Amino acid sequence: MVRYVSTRNRNLSLPAHEAVISGLAPDGGLFTPDAVDRIHIDPADLLKCTYQQQAAAIIGALFDDYSEEQIRNCTEGAYDSKFASEDIVPLRPFRDGWLMELWHGPTSAFKDVALTILPRLLSTAYQMDGRDDTIAILTATSGDTGKAALSGFADVPDTAITVFYPEVGVSEIQRLQMQTSPGNNVEVIAVKGNFDDCQRMVKEAVSSPLVRDACRHVTISSANSINIGRLVPQIVYYYHAYTELVNSGAVRCGDRINFSVPTGNFGDILAGWLAACLGLPVGRLICASNRNNVLTDFIRTGTYDVNRDFHTTMSPSMDILISSNLERLLFMLSSQDDTLIRDLMEKLKTEGTYTVPEEIHAKIGEMFSAYWTNEDECAETIRTVYERDGILIDPHTAVALHAMYSYQEESGDTRPCVVLSTASAYKFSRDVYRSLSGSNEPDDLKAMQKLQELTGEAVPENLAHLHELPVRFTKSIAVSDGLETIARRMKELSHD
Ligand SMILES: *Cc1c(COP(=O)(O)O)cnc(C)c1O
Repeated sequence: MVRYVSTRNRNLSLPAHEAVISGLAPDGGLFTPDAVDRIHIDPADLLKCTYQQQAAAIIGALFDDYSEEQIRNCTEGAYDSKFASEDIVPLRPFRDGWLMELWHGPTSAFKDVALTILPRLLSTAYQMDGRDDTIAILTATSGDTGKAALSGFADVPDTAITVFYPEVGVSEIQRLQMQTSPGNNVEVIAVKGNFDDCQRMVKEAVSSPLVRDACRHVTISSANSINIGRLVPQIVYYYHAYTELVNSGAVRCGDRINFSVPTGNFGDILAGWLAACLGLPVGRLICASNRNNVLTDFIRTGTYDVNRDFHTTMSPSMDILISSNLERLLFMLSSQDDTLIRDLMEKLKTEGTYTVPEEIHAKIGEMFSAYWTNEDECAETIRTVYERDGILIDPHTAVALHAMYSYQEESGDTRPCVVLSTASAYKFSRDVYRSLSGSNEPDDLKAMQKLQELTGEAVPENLAHLHELPVRFTKSIAVSDGLETIARRMKELSHD
């Protein structure tokens, strides 16, 4: 049976379903699978499978305390007509590679791939344990997770969800998507701070006595990528891209391919690394960042240093300085050295910086390359790809595409490369419209209209009707009021 081990205490390990319920470990660690090199998943066995079947095989192998039927119910319930593409994550060829479009789900962002299934994995876990308390989902968002989580959890029995987003930073469309969310169990709160403040608040809530004392028959969990129930479903699309390329004759089964991944919290790219550990022939994982290039520096030097300015960019889902999931990579690469991880994370908290031992840095370099893209390069990439290939991409995807070109130029590596396309361009209409037309339209909704007129590409259904929905949530709090706000909410949800 696969155990999920806390990165800060290797003696604390849980079976998958309990790790899914728990989200974060009580010691602040992240649950990490202990068996990825014991399990082998050969892409050759998945060539004839649908996306749903691949998902059942891969998630089932890692979440092996769920029954086959339970996993199948989860994958089939999640990956259905909620996705506008029958392929779930279609692969789109362009001149220099492939874009894997991960944004055809209900909220037009790649987070849907994991957040359509997480509520199902969670409720199933609850049934397994016969529990009757309310699951309170606390979620910090830099823009896309919030809406995807709200959509995934809306009116799911025995759950309630509260989303915290930075008041300045998310796009107007992202904000409206959240503020207009339906459901009787949802709450959305703006925070006068940035994403890192929101994420810290949610992490601290788990171990805060104030919050804990407020919970009666309430269990706090998380929909952030610190929850292993989000990470594992993301492994699937790396396999899916690979089998598509083999089936189309572009790649021979067994040959390695590269992936370029726009990275914020290091969840998406870590799923790619887990895929490689399970046996997917991966050459390079290109870690793409925007101006908040803390990961670029880390991967190149081995020193993680958040003592730098924070920038708001047109790829807000990557405006992050503390990439939580990196902790999982370091834990696995250090053969579960929990003492080292505790020490590094303590340094990060007190000094804002740490340096990993050289052998770990060297191991990172065997698989990861890192590049960052500035705002002008991002805009130019959006324009070039549209003019040259007729493809409309969002700023996050542009950052990844630009990183792919930088990597290929520097390394000369011409292996097939899949670029992860993580959001619909319409979620960032203002910036994409400006990048394409050179003119400014400050109103995001008007920009969406103009972008459609300019390109003729259909606006995804969920965004097209956004302006007609009533705004339900306008509350805004200071960072310092976070724990008290959460405690109050937990009291409301408490019962005997
Ligand atoms: C969340 C997000 C990312 C970054 O993914 P991580 O798992 O946080 O690294 C990139 N692009 C978009 C559009 C996102 O929503």
